[in-house]
Amino acid sequence: MPTQAVPEARPRVDSGARAPIHTEVVIIGAGPCGLFQVFELGLLGIGCHVIDSLSMPGGQCAELYPDKPIYDIPALPVCGAQELIERLLQQIKPFNAQFHLGEEVSAICRRPDGRFDMTTAAGTRLDTGAVVIAAGVGSFQPRRLALPGAEAFEGHSILYRVRNAQALSGRRLVIFGGGDSALDWTLELVHTAESLTLVHRRPEFRAAPASVAQMRALEAAGRLRCLEALAHELTSEGGELTGVRVRAADGTLHELPADRLLVFFGLHPKLGPIAEWGLELERKAVRVDTEKFETSVPGIFAVGDVNTYPGKKKLILSGFHEAALAAFAIQHHLYPQKKQFLQYTTTSPAMHKRLGVAES
Ligand code: FAD
Repeated sequence: MPTQAVPEARPRVDSGARAPIHTEVVIIGAGPCGLFQVFELGLLGIGCHVIDSLSMPGGQCAELYPDKPIYDIPALPVCGAQELIERLLQQIKPFNAQFHLGEEVSAICRRPDGRFDMTTAAGTRLDTGAVVIAAGVGSFQPRRLALPGAEAFEGHSILYRVRNAQALSGRRLVIFGGGDSALDWTLELVHTAESLTLVHRRPEFRAAPASVAQMRALEAAGRLRCLEALAHELTSEGGELTGVRVRAADGTLHELPADRLLVFFGLHPKLGPIAEWGLELERKAVRVDTEKFETSVPGIFAVGDVNTYPGKKKLILSGFHEAALAAFAIQHHLYPQKKQFLQYTTTSPAMHKRLGVAES
């Protein structure tokens, strides 16, 4: 799959387990702050599961600006956004966090014993002692094809992500979009599709120039068709999608027979189910205190862009600080009898052991 490759430094990925998973902490969101939360908990010997609705870790950094340089990460004068994510994944590797990617957390229920039952839209169930919401600006949702009747075809004939490329082999495909996902899938699927038309609303593409050049070469060779047009109307027969009409810049309507429409109009964030969990919110952000970064529900913490408090600045640096303090608060929440003291990573034998750098 072109845009969903798993980087090497990625921790174990586990999706789709159905039996409840018992864990100390669940982190909702694998953006930079969720990843650093794994590290801070790991230093204290606390294990966690991480859930993200995207199919790869990295949050906004990976999804919105992977190639852009960041200049305000301490001690890294310049760092690519995707590079930052790779470095964080490398840093948390010793703690073996388990990732559930491509799953949105849909429900959290606080039990009388203070633990939480959590469910994802994919059916994974977790039983956890504490929750950290590191959900940024919310879970990213695909921008949908806004045509009458589209909803009835979504998930089978109209797709917003490709889960099974083989199922598209031998099909008549129309791909909408001009970004990397649209171009990457065009270049991948053109070899197995019966026919493929790429439809983009303007002549310029946001995708990598090399991909656009490859697509143009295939178009010149007659392997695919590329149209500058807007989706106009779906066509169907007996409940089956038969194609789509698109309107070109000059007003001409083109009829494109198709079995599958692949729509890559990008993603938009949605606070989504988090807004329904009974947490105190302020302007679509979760209110926390600045000692523990705990929400209005004991045992649920929030770090990174998703939280708010007086003076909050939505910066990665702020989220890292919040994750450090939240980890101590979570340790106290889970193990109130345990004495807390600050240890340095330079000198603590216990932390060296957890980091896997202890001398034998
Ligand atoms: P996010 O990165 O938003 O990650 C949250 C994750 O949670 C997402 O992956 C989302 O899919 C997931 N999620 C949400 N809800 C659910 C749910 N219900 N179930 C499962 N998963 C869920 N900051 C800086 O400090 N310096 C910069 O130079 C800088 N440059 C930027 C440039 C751009 C173009 C943009 C857009 C932002 C920039 N930022 C910068 C801001 C920075 O990216 C954010 O502060 C940071 O990403 C916040 O991290 P996070 O982990 O809190 O959330």
